[in-house]
Amino acid sequence: PAETPVDDDVLARRHEVLAEVQEHYYAAPPRIERGWREHLIDVNGRVYLDMVNNVASVGHAHPRVVEAGSRQMHLLNTNSRFHYRAITDYADRIAATLPEGFDTVFFVNSGSEATDLAIRLAMAATGRPDIVAMREAYHGWTYASDAVSTSIADNPHALSTRPDWVHTVDAANSYRGKHRGADAEKYAPEAVAVIDELAASGRPPAGMIAETYFGNAGGVALPEGYLGAVYAAIRRHGGLAIADEVQVGYGRLGEWFWGFQQQGAVPDIVAVAKSIGGGHPLGAVVTRREIADRYRTGGYFFSSTGGSPVSSVIGMAVLDVIEQEGLQENARVVGAHLKRRLEELGKKHDLIGTVHGSGLYLGVEFVRDRETLEPATTETAAICDRLLELGVIMQPTGDHQNVLKIKPPLVVTRASVDVFVDALDRVLTTGY
Ligand code: PMP
Repeated sequence: PAETPVDDDVLARRHEVLAEVQEHYYAAPPRIERGWREHLIDVNGRVYLDMVNNVASVGHAHPRVVEAGSRQMHLLNTNSRFHYRAITDYADRIAATLPEGFDTVFFVNSGSEATDLAIRLAMAATGRPDIVAMREAYHGWTYASDAVSTSIADNPHALSTRPDWVHTVDAANSYRGKHRGADAEKYAPEAVAVIDELAASGRPPAGMIAETYFGNAGGVALPEGYLGAVYAAIRRHGGLAIADEVQVGYGRLGEWFWGFQQQGAVPDIVAVAKSIGGGHPLGAVVTRREIADRYRTGGYFFSSTGGSPVSSVIGMAVLDVIEQEGLQENARVVGAHLKRRLEELGKKHDLIGTVHGSGLYLGVEFVRDRETLEPATTETAAICDRLLELGVIMQPTGDHQNVLKIKPPLVVTRASVDVFVDALDRVLTTGY
């Protein structure tokens, strides 16, 4: 039965019963009761267009995912130490989306677990403690994944509180980073120099972790050849390349199924989550057998519900939907249309500094001045609030919280993205 809208102390109770640090979107959020495709419906029956939900990758309440999960819950769900078919079938399916050599899968329940395990795998396989990570990134909240996360939007003290095994390189942001435009080609040699210096000082790193497409900054493509150069340097010193594909992988970029393909580089360990479960908690780490086998030297691995029968059939249903409904192609086509329209909007509204991204991972970066790139942080928050009034769910991202993070369910239609662009145009024209 539907919830009763009159019961409106739920938000107050949330503040009482949940830790303050566990935030929610919006000061006055709509209370959501249902989801369908790229839409969310609140307790008053109001429909919102959900332009931020990359967890509901194949759309809210996809019937095939719901049916697969509920059928399996009736049949069997248990921890992953039992012997059942679904985990093997699903591991085969995930491995088949990756290049030759990715033959071994670990299943976990979230992105934080996936990146944490990827880091620990690199440490175990190399017998080394040091990790290189790109700055302004978010990789998760567990000990190791948090240690390599230096986004100040998530933790203002991030850089000054790193454990000594974490070594950072510049955020390779060609729009507002240290090197801009054509100068962005300098990021790779500088990162390589950090890796070389570590090795020369007797601390060759176990691995390097980075998003393969800069999701935390709002979907900024890494400079051409960046990952190839950095991965080569890491391997030259016997370390491993770790790709965080939690946000950008799995078809969202449209042209590429995996973010590292955009760079023409192949990592050693891939961490993925979010979209692979279509909202169900699911994560995976995929690597080569010889790396996975070395894990025993560094630790113990068991995840009770990682790859459970229910998780595995849901994971396979999500992949079926992506493949059979052509959702990567939808991301490419609808995403290209959306990016074109947003760029058109940029000609009309000076606040739009640039439009980042590919497929259905886009970022509209708001600046007060196109020369100084002063971030329009308060404006971005106000624009998101105004968009909510117009029925569009949108949130800021980036260290300056001045980029709209556009990552809707992959089923989003051209008509829906037009609604979003028209609403944004209206907000920028009429005030926020
Ligand atoms: N890596 C990246 C790039 C992410 O964006 C996130 C989540 N925002 C994570 C890892 C952690 O995933 P989770 O929230 O599922 O633990």
